[in-house]
Amino acid sequence: MSKQITKILLNESEMPTRWYNIQADMPNLPKPPLHPGTRKPIGPQDLSAIFPDELIKQEVSQERWIDIPEEVQEIYRLWRPSPLYRARRLEKALDTPARIYYKYEGVSPAGSHKLNTAVPQAYYNKMQGIKRLATETGAGQWGIALSQACTFFGLACTVYMVKISYQQKPYRRTVMNIFGSEVFASPSNQTECGRKILEQDPGNPGSLGIAISEAVEDAALHPDTNYALGSVLNHVILHQTVIGLEAKEQMAKVNDYPDIVIGCCGGGSNFAGTAFPFAHDKLVDGKNVRLIAAEPSACPTLTKGKLSYDFGDVSGLTPLLYMYTLGKDFMPPGIHAGGLRYHGDSPLVSQLVHDGIIEAKAFGQTAIFNAATLFAKNEGIIPAPESAHAVCCAIEEALICKEAGEAKTILFTLSGHGLLDLPSYEKFLDNKIQDYNLSDEEITKYLKNLPQV
Ligand SMILES: *Cc1c(COP(=O)(O)O)cnc(C)c1O
Repeated sequence: MSKQITKILLNESEMPTRWYNIQADMPNLPKPPLHPGTRKPIGPQDLSAIFPDELIKQEVSQERWIDIPEEVQEIYRLWRPSPLYRARRLEKALDTPARIYYKYEGVSPAGSHKLNTAVPQAYYNKMQGIKRLATETGAGQWGIALSQACTFFGLACTVYMVKISYQQKPYRRTVMNIFGSEVFASPSNQTECGRKILEQDPGNPGSLGIAISEAVEDAALHPDTNYALGSVLNHVILHQTVIGLEAKEQMAKVNDYPDIVIGCCGGGSNFAGTAFPFAHDKLVDGKNVRLIAAEPSACPTLTKGKLSYDFGDVSGLTPLLYMYTLGKDFMPPGIHAGGLRYHGDSPLVSQLVHDGIIEAKAFGQTAIFNAATLFAKNEGIIPAPESAHAVCCAIEEALICKEAGEAKTILFTLSGHGLLDLPSYEKFLDNKIQDYNLSDEEITKYLKNLPQV
């Protein structure tokens, strides 16, 4: 009997040397970002106070392929190419005819996919002569990734960490401190925006929208400081396409191609990074592949939000993005998948959902922890609670295959490991995980306040 392949690896020399830019192939580009004051489309000069030129260029580029700088490739090779696994034991446990593959991004030193964009962002800022980056972080994954990337390129880093995560996930803060970053619980006293919120509501648990306001304000006020965002924007998604490009090569090595591609979706970067190289095949070559974004039912941006212009932050400092949103004032319940608690979504992902090229599904907390535990018991890896949404969706699709007796191929990205999320797993094991079902009235309330454009 021939040995079954479980782990599909690429050599370093097979690592992609270019990122894929879906803007070259989209049937409809998203509407342009608008200036928060004038509400007119923004130009490059409006962004240059907080972003380096090269990232601004990438943001609007319609070149299909963009070279990955050699200095970035060199750091990527610390953990890339990342492995693709065939989840044979999970398949057996589910008794499904489906073939399940997962691309594992938890092997990065940061423990998640976020380092794929943190490294080029730090690099381009360094090249521009910037000394410090300011950013926000929810669960802490992005803060860790940017802290590491800044250290690699000799930049200082200031992180505004959503207060509830700062309190619930102290080890993430320690990791950022090890890499030399300054970390503030947000809302903080460091910024005008933070002080204003604390005055009105001293117990505010924070949100990504608030932390973004603080980081943008910090960057805008200091000429040697730029801002870095870990998701949502086009250049971030561009950088993450290394995931899907590698996965496609890896599946080709075992003569397979996915019928279904799945990623969890907060701002959309690991999902899009995985799905867009396959969306290329769907858009350009007419391949029949389903692309599913898995989001939390407690923050159902794509499944219950509205496609509309909205601010990226709470204070209305950022440009208005045309995206699915729950409203910038939406305060998501304190679910354990902190990285998925964002009111908006990538404009690229949003447009493709709107155009019917991408689907979205929402999952509750109990379901995702059950799925993550089943996955861990069979595959040995404890998923990040964010990634558990992708696991849950993949299992659901595999069970649909079982019902229908169809041997489909499912690919999902396991965006990170959950070894710093053990307090959340402890709550799950103690039956203390809660499902939040947002009422339609509640969602409508926040959507009423969307800016009029
Ligand atoms: C941040 C994070 C996410 C969500 O962000 P996306 O931009 O939607 O990918 C998902 N998984 C992990 C492990 C994260 O750290």
